[in-house]
Amino acid sequence: MIYSERNRFSGQRRGSIEVICGSMFSGKTEELIRRLKRAEFAKLRVEIFKPVIDARYSEFDVVSHNRTKIRSTPVESSGNILLMAGDVDVVGIDEAQFFDEGLPEVCNQLANQGIRVIVAGLDMDFRGLPFGVMPALCAIAEDVYKVHAICVRCGALAYVSHRLIASDKRVLIGETTEYEPVCRHCFLEIAN
Ligand SMILES: [Zn+2]
Repeated sequence: MIYSERNRFSGQRRGSIEVICGSMFSGKTEELIRRLKRAEFAKLRVEIFKPVIDARYSEFDVVSHNRTKIRSTPVESSGNILLMAGDVDVVGIDEAQFFDEGLPEVCNQLANQGIRVIVAGLDMDFRGLPFGVMPALCAIAEDVYKVHAICVRCGALAYVSHRLIASDKRVLIGETTEYEPVCRHCFLEIAN
């Protein structure tokens, strides 16, 4: 990684924004947890936030599909992150696509204060459209890391989370029964 934990020890803290994005089952949350745990091992003060909407596994943990987890604080809005991320070195944000429009500005403010901000989220919704604040976050980030699931239909790299059940609701918290990762080619075939 480009941004090292050594920043804290160089005398002057350097803030930055990292984005981890991809479809469902691509390992976004595992990658977020990996970076945050590494920071914790380096004795950095870490705070993790997620939107209250994601109560899939646990109210207070960020949990990946393979059940790795790390303690987190559910918040109602992006403004809460600014209030609660007082004396920390690293801020992690999971399921960023569900946050309000204020999140990019919040991330900028945190990074400008010298905090390393690591954001994970779905890049596209089930229709293949950019999801919420994710495009804006990718634009202002120093580093964007796109992770991929494997297409369940052909084995190529997946790029979108296809919804298996009929619903037009954009926010539908799901598991393998509701979504499957598919590549662009298979997604087009399903749509036609
Ligand atoms: Zn495919």
